[in-house]
Amino acid sequence: MNFEQLGLIKPILDALKTQGYEQPTPIQEKAIPPILQGKDLLGSAQTGTGKTAAFAIPILQNLSDKQQFRNQIKVLILTPTRELAIQIDENFKAYSKNLKLKSLVIFGGVKQHQQEQDLKKGVDILIATPGRLLDFISQGIIKLHHLEIFVLDEADRMLDMGFVHDVKRILKLLPAKRQNLFFSATMPKEIAKLASEILINPVKAEV
Ligand code: AMP
Repeated sequence: MNFEQLGLIKPILDALKTQGYEQPTPIQEKAIPPILQGKDLLGSAQTGTGKTAAFAIPILQNLSDKQQFRNQIKVLILTPTRELAIQIDENFKAYSKNLKLKSLVIFGGVKQHQQEQDLKKGVDILIATPGRLLDFISQGIIKLHHLEIFVLDEADRMLDMGFVHDVKRILKLLPAKRQNLFFSATMPKEIAKLASEILINPVKAEV
């Protein structure tokens, strides 16, 4: 299996070539087709398996031909730590280098001014840690009414770090009609329950 066979468009294939990716990893082979079809997905994969590209690539492709709601938040990726958030944003920026889509990362522990300025310039894809996102939402700086795709990354670590309450608050603020992607390295009972509350008829992708 190669990236062409997954049905990816040329601007993305070119970007993957620039990255030096020769073929999809197992999680990418399993996750990219259903995500391109707009399905919900439950992914069990650890960091290091290529899971970020497994969701970033099809998300970018699905947004790429859309003219509506330019520069408005259409995709939200929630992740537990600043380091993961930055890595995810770097991935999105690398794969979207031939597309007109903007990603932005926001996280706590730093002043909000610069992030606020960046948000004002317009964003298609927002990568966030839960606390800072809720801060911006409560101040009316971020609105999520155009959201189409929600990604919960590293759900088990979210739980370990005590973010589940924040995640549930955020979920209540999202439009009901959306695509949901849920990734976790492990699937203990509590995580499976959270997944079942978020996902509708998900395709399962395990590696
Ligand atoms: P992740 O599991 O998302 O943290 O990715 C781990 C690393 O694998 C990152 O440095 C990616 O740039 C890299 N990577 C992702 N997909 C591929 C691929 N298909 N071929 C080679 N490297 C990849």
